[in-house]
This record gives sequence, C-alpha cells and structure tokens, in this order.
Amino acid sequence: MLARFGEYQTGVNRPALSGEDIAARNWLRNRMEEAGLEAIIDGVGNVIGRTPGHHKRIILGSHTDTVPFGGWLDGAMGVVYSLEIARTYMEAGGNNNIGIEVVSFNDEEGRFYALLGSHFYCGLLEKSDLTGIHDTDGISLQESLENAGFAGREIATLDPAKHIAYLEAHIEQGPVLENEKRTIGLVTEIVGIRRSRVKFYGQADHAGTTPMKLRKDAAAALYNMATRLEALYRSEGSPHTVWNLGKARIEPGTLNVVCSFAELFIEYRDPSSETLRKLQNKLDQLSAEVADRYRVEKESAEVVTIEPAKMDPMLVGRLEAAAKNLKKRHMRLHSGAGHDAMVLVKRIPAAMLFVPSIGGRSHDINENTQEYDLFSGAQVLSQTVSDLVDDHP
Ligand SMILES: [Zn+2]
Repeated sequence: MLARFGEYQTGVNRPALSGEDIAARNWLRNRMEEAGLEAIIDGVGNVIGRTPGHHKRIILGSHTDTVPFGGWLDGAMGVVYSLEIARTYMEAGGNNNIGIEVVSFNDEEGRFYALLGSHFYCGLLEKSDLTGIHDTDGISLQESLENAGFAGREIATLDPAKHIAYLEAHIEQGPVLENEKRTIGLVTEIVGIRRSRVKFYGQADHAGTTPMKLRKDAAAALYNMATRLEALYRSEGSPHTVWNLGKARIEPGTLNVVCSFAELFIEYRDPSSETLRKLQNKLDQLSAEVADRYRVEKESAEVVTIEPAKMDPMLVGRLEAAAKNLKKRHMRLHSGAGHDAMVLVKRIPAAMLFVPSIGGRSHDINENTQEYDLFSGAQVLSQTVSDLVDDHP
C-alpha cells in the first residue's frame, strides 16, 4: 500500500518532502493511529508512533523517502515491519514495562541532507540549522517543511534515559547474502566513507609544438594518478575496501591544447578507521609523487569524512540468537551503505538486520526481495523485540 505513493513502474519515486512523500507520511501517521499508537509528524517531518503510557521504549524504524526512481523496499520495509510489530504489541494488550516507538526518519537519502531526520532526532542538528539547508536545486528545507504543513512543530528528540535500543531492518542493497545463500544478515558495523579531491595545475600549451618533455600536462597527471590509485587500494586496503573514481574534470578539454587543470574525485569506504586513515596518507603521498613526475602543482583535500559505526555487540547477538532460534540461515556482515542506525548508535545501543536483495539490486526500480526473505526478516525482528521486552518484566 505504501508503495502506491510515488509508484513508478515496478519502483517508487518519492524523494523527501515531494508531494508523494508528504502523502505517504500522512498515510503512515494514520496507520499508526489505527494501530493504537500516539502518532505525530514532527517539525522536521519525522513520523513517530509511540505505544501509550510507557516510560521506556525500544525504537524501531527506518525511512520512507526514496532516491529518485528508486525501489519499493529501501527504507519502507523496515518501517512497515516496525508498524506491524507495534500493532501486534498493542493487540496483545500493550501493557509491558517496555514500549515501542516506531519512527520513519525523514530524508535518509539526502535530498536536503543525508540522514537528516535521524540527525535532528539525535540532537546532532538543531532548529537553528533548519534555515541553512537546501537541496541541489536550491529549494530550502524550511520552505518545503512549510509547504508540507510540518514547519514550526516541535522537533522530537531521543532521550537515552528512556530509549533503551534502536533496531533497524533493511534490505542489503548488495549481493553478499544472496551469494552466500543466507536469509538474514546481522550487521556488525557500517563502513566509514572518505571523499577526496585532488587538483593538478598544469600549463596550457600548443599540443602540436610543445615537446613532450617540456609539457606541464595536468591530464597526464590525473590519468597516472587514477591508474596508480587502483594498485594502491589493492595493496594497502583491506579485503573490505571499496573505491570509486566516479567524477573527474579536465580543462580546457580539447585535443589541441595541453591540459592546464585536472580534478579527480575519489570515494573509498572501509569498516576500519585505521585503514581509512592509512589510505588517506598514501593518497596524499601518491598525489605529490605524481605532481612531481609531471611537473604540475597539486592540491589535495579530504572533502567528506564519515567514520565507521560499530553496531552494539549485545544487540547484534540478540538478533543473531533470534535468527538461530527461528532456524533462518544467517551470517554477520558489514554494511557498505549508510543508514540511520549509524546516527542512532552515537546515542544509544543500536543494531541492524538485513534481508537479501535479488541480484544485489537497489536504488533502482528493479529492487526486490523474495517473499520468504521478507517474511523471515519480520519474524527475526519481531522475535528480538519480544525477547528484549521480556528482559524487563
Ligand atoms: Zn535505505
């Protein structure tokens, strides 16, 4: 039903605070109320439903916004699991010591700001930050919240004295579980991300009359750097290191002029901060060597630094025990994608479970998961919540 909002062929187009996304948020709040939860949409668009009368709660959630023309499960699956678990909890009487708080965090995908809703919920962004945030088209977050009717409302925040844990179920968005023929993945950590930019300043000259040995060719430096980076990451990275040279620019970009300026962007990810730091140092060294060799000037800078987030070992163990009890084939793995859990874990114990993505596909309308796996993920999450609630009789 949720997938009807922004439905596009076999996928969903529902970027944060688009018309479809706002309709989906209001729909979700109504479903929460129907389930007997106290439901609100707060001042940043987070949709929150709480079981009434509880002093302590387990937070269950994920996100309902999508990338443009994305899949129907990314984020939404975890929110629907959470809603159904809370509904079952209420139907069973809802009178345990530990309650449930279901949250759909706004703008996980970063139309305005990656993991926006969880940053506000965890107090890492505040009301005063609202005005400075825009999407890539220059549309302001504040204005979008006003249009949605959410602006000016109180912003809900987490309280570590009341919120004892955060659990998030999500599709894997990669091929590991499918390749290993497992139904459930227990996330041990979420990788850290580094983005670096290297600029080479050469000299524009006639490409026919300037001898090769006298050129200051910024493009040649860039190509050499790109090739050697591949070798560097293979030898110095861990078996988990992944990297992408997805963006580059050369100027003036024509065949009869020696290139005067080249810029290379590099993203790399790894579960270990130590490995990331080492790679950053090696990258700096390499850019200096390359600049030297091609007689160009260089500038390098790390432009994005996101540290890896280790999930709470006790909660990972609880999810694993539930998977084992339910006889689901499972394994531990790290997440190569960012998730709200990496923000929540800064404040309270948090953990995640994954279900397989068919063909590893995600952020695409072809994203899907086998029905048995969808069902199994809900069972494991639900069992883990029951176990945690039973711990506090
Ligand atoms: Zn997601």
